[in-house]
Amino acid sequence: MRYVSTRDSKTRVTAARAIEMGLSADGGLFVPEVLPRLPKGAMEELRTMSYRQRAVYVMKLFLEDYTVAELTDYTQRAYGPRGFDTPEVAPVYKLDGNTHFLELWHGPTCAFKDMALQMLPRLLTAAVAKNGETRDVCILVATSGDTGKAALEGFADVEGTKIIVFYPRDGVSDIQKLQMTSQEGSNVAVAAVNGNFDDAQTTVKEIFSDPELRGELSASGWMLSSANSINWGRLLPQIVYYISAYCDLLNSGDIVMGEKVNFCVPTGNFGDILAGYYAMNMGLPVNRLICASNKNDVLTEFLNTGVYDRNREFYTTVSPSMDILVSSNLERLLYDLSGKNDAETAEYMRLLRDTGRYRVSDRIKSAMDGVFAAGSCDDGETKAVIAGAFKEHGYLIDTHTAVAYGVLEKYRRDTGDDTVSVVVSTASPYKFCAAVLEALGRTPEHTGPELIGELEDASGVPAPAPLKGLLGKCPRFTDSFDKGDLKGVVRDFLK
Ligand SMILES: *Cc1c(COP(=O)(O)O)cnc(C)c1O
Repeated sequence: MRYVSTRDSKTRVTAARAIEMGLSADGGLFVPEVLPRLPKGAMEELRTMSYRQRAVYVMKLFLEDYTVAELTDYTQRAYGPRGFDTPEVAPVYKLDGNTHFLELWHGPTCAFKDMALQMLPRLLTAAVAKNGETRDVCILVATSGDTGKAALEGFADVEGTKIIVFYPRDGVSDIQKLQMTSQEGSNVAVAAVNGNFDDAQTTVKEIFSDPELRGELSASGWMLSSANSINWGRLLPQIVYYISAYCDLLNSGDIVMGEKVNFCVPTGNFGDILAGYYAMNMGLPVNRLICASNKNDVLTEFLNTGVYDRNREFYTTVSPSMDILVSSNLERLLYDLSGKNDAETAEYMRLLRDTGRYRVSDRIKSAMDGVFAAGSCDDGETKAVIAGAFKEHGYLIDTHTAVAYGVLEKYRRDTGDDTVSVVVSTASPYKFCAAVLEALGRTPEHTGPELIGELEDASGVPAPAPLKGLLGKCPRFTDSFDKGDLKGVVRDFLK
């Protein structure tokens, strides 16, 4: 199977090449030329498997140039007991008769980014070898919080790689900062940038497109690559957990084979929900994909009106990983719903770049209406949802998951749809202690990792070990840099 660029279908590459490159040279994203279907009887087979076996089965459908033995090895290391605190890897928690939570935060950094970033380093290093690339790979990451730590954990001590993470000095939570700056491993570096997330992101993009620097690094045996969610190697592992959740619901008797379910997904860059869309198009029985936004509701408006407009105020919310106005992965959806029209997709992206706004065709709009529903929750509603779930069910959820649960409840009120529904739970509440404590009616008394104990006292729910382990940890990386110094950071680290 080949992968094509969303902006030029004539660009056709192997899976290994798509994963190594990340982004197509024309600026487009790689997508499978033809989406594989789940073979007949696949669900009967998959339901008897472990999560890791399911991952091998599903990923193999997309990765012709990787062997089953390779994928088995990767899944064992990616989703093994060293990183995940449950053998189920991505367990489904039943809240009530027809509401379930797919918990994607049992990995080493306690956010759903681990599901992909534990796998990507294996896929990427193998891709480099398959492509005959002899240079080592340096991963550059600009992060607003969760991606940086998950990428560090994924790439730490992976042979043939180094990773440098840039984060905005004052733009991440205390816990997120300490998670990154205390990272162990001999091939990692973390640098605070004096500026905001956009400054860090723009500078990293400049480094990527600096031919002189790239040439210099290449001469000393290094190539640059990226671990952000435009890489197909990050999207693919996310398709697995939608299919796995369906299997678990079958096995628990909550649904029967072929019964459709809803998935409600807290959305930022549109990567997570897009993986659900692909699972559905492979044949997974899905009724609605419900896209949940916080106050930055550009996607909700888009799905409801067909107009994407990023010319709006940017809000900082209690669900910071969804504070985003340009959702990169939407491009893949537009390509698919336009009937794989690369010129049309490229034109929307040009309008977005030049004017910040575009309106999709009637064809795309009505196709979206058949699949998606969308809604949003502001911070007040989000906290009320956290309080409600805890009071009524004793179930503690984080701010992002609460946005999704709140949107699902609104959707049910508006439509009367009582289909069995799965809320995609994307982070441990212990990553966002201050907001969760406030939701429970407490006033946080500490800062930093001390908040973890406070939330344990308030909720009686034990915190995940990797976050508890932050108490008493010392930062290894304390330097901060101006934007202009970042190239020097890269040069020094790769000497
Ligand atoms: C990244 C993230 C999201 C958003 O996922 P996208 O794939 O960007 O839509 C939601 N919740 C948490 C906790 C995240 O870290």
